[in-house]
Amino acid sequence: MRPRRTLALVAAAALGLTTPTLPLAAHASATTDLSAVSGAGASAVSVVPCLTGAALRDQDVPVWRRGQLEDTPTITETDLRAVVPSETTRRSMRAEVEPVLPSRVTVPVYVHVIKGTHPRERNPFGPKRVAQALRILNNAFAGGQGAQNAPTRYTFELERTDYTKRDGWYHAYNNGPRDDRMKRALHRGGADALNLYLNRGGEDGLPVLGWARFPWRAAGTELDHVSINVDAMPGGLARGYNSGDTLVHEVGHWMGLFHTFQGGCEGSGDLVVDTAAEAQPEFDCTEGRDTCPDDPGLDPIHNFMDYSLDACMTEFTAGQVRRMDTAFAQYRSGRS
Ligand SMILES: [Zn+2]
Repeated sequence: MRPRRTLALVAAAALGLTTPTLPLAAHASATTDLSAVSGAGASAVSVVPCLTGAALRDQDVPVWRRGQLEDTPTITETDLRAVVPSETTRRSMRAEVEPVLPSRVTVPVYVHVIKGTHPRERNPFGPKRVAQALRILNNAFAGGQGAQNAPTRYTFELERTDYTKRDGWYHAYNNGPRDDRMKRALHRGGADALNLYLNRGGEDGLPVLGWARFPWRAAGTELDHVSINVDAMPGGLARGYNSGDTLVHEVGHWMGLFHTFQGGCEGSGDLVVDTAAEAQPEFDCTEGRDTCPDDPGLDPIHNFMDYSLDACMTEFTAGQVRRMDTAFAQYRSGRS
């Protein structure tokens, strides 16, 4: 049903028969009630299959917001047990992780640029923009975005960029059948390789900023990926989210990080000891917000793993870096 309906609507859109007016969804929470969101948007979505060139004039560009669709698989008990907090203590790091991981890890990056067939979709991301994206990613992972940005051992190095023109892949639903087919067809490298897909995809016509799979679910498979909407990259149309930090956020998931608001105020939250608990995502940049007053510390609104605006996101914590290292050693290094 879905592909057939979409094809028909894409054809209609190409003929200028549709006028998108929907607010675009952005990347989203593992705790979001997806069914409610999908239900609310379903009727409107059915007439807005994709963004056409005509739809991307300035006056038609809606307000982007993170948080209406899931950008990772829904968190399960299996996810919560995949990297347990006791494995990320300093003592465990010294005994088990440090001997396995070199002090510097170079991550090979395969970039898969998908082109659409409508105007302004045909050459969305050339080599200069790919290089710029990796500079932003490397700066964040080197601790360069701010004084509180803990450095990591990872450097992302471009291995190859390929370009594919296919409208169905350009507008693929996140983690839908076409999205999976695209990933299986283009995926390169082993468990340590970052496969980065750039298109304008989203759930049932609601474009999302980005999505990713956790290492314990996908490392070493053809579905291991980070996907970013070209509008969430520098020069993209997603105002407030076009500085490149969506890429940093999604690679954070690829490294094994949960959202900072995972689990809300109760329990062990995101399983990282130095990110304060947070009841809900932050969508703006509300300084001093404290949604879990019984938990020490203000909400981590500047953390890359919250849903704040790009300009607000500047930090990984040392605890998050230890979790990344533990996950990488277990699932991506092939050495443990
Ligand atoms: Zn996320």
